Amino acid sequence: APQELRELLLSRIHDVPDYPKPGVMFKDITPLLADAKAFAALTDALAGLCERHGATKVVGLEARGFILAAPVAVRAGLGFVPVRKAGKLPGATLAQSYELEYGTAEIEMHADALVEGDRVLVIDDVLATGGTAEASLKLIRRAGAEVAGVAVLMELGFLPGRARLEPALDGAPLEAL
Ligand code: AMP
Repeated sequence: APQELRELLLSRIHDVPDYPKPGVMFKDITPLLADAKAFAALTDALAGLCERHGATKVVGLEARGFILAAPVAVRAGLGFVPVRKAGKLPGATLAQSYELEYGTAEIEMHADALVEGDRVLVIDDVLATGGTAEASLKLIRRAGAEVAGVAVLMELGFLPGRARLEPALDGAPLEAL
């Protein structure tokens, strides 16, 4: 992202130490969401990535990914598809589990949400270990769709999220604003 946008976005993200547990530096995006100019600039930048990478659908990852991806989908003129934590979607789903530091987690997507020929941009706020994004890419491919890329507001560069995601990206871009 251009320097000016980066500075605006960074100034509206607050670091909260030891939340939700000791040792975690939580990236709080609520000040950014509350700032109309910053939220619009972020939405425009992400919508631009949809266009650049030829996306036909936008996937948002629960929960903060929903907040970012929904206005991006509208701005880009594309449909929005939620990828949710297990047990939240009412229809037939595809499920994908993935490894956490301790234990496993599972995400789901409606089985008919994507069609063959769709090119999907995945949006979330923070890429940390990359586990959630990696699992979402597996869901998208299992649904028969293509991956246009992954776009996040922030990549935590001190974690190996990008490396973990690389095989699942299979050449598609990971964009961190
Ligand atoms: P991961 O699967 O480890 O990449 O974690 C990604 C998910 O956890 C994202 O949906 C983020 O919203 C959330 N997350 C992980 N670490 C942080 C953090 N330090 N600050 C804010 N959100 C985080």
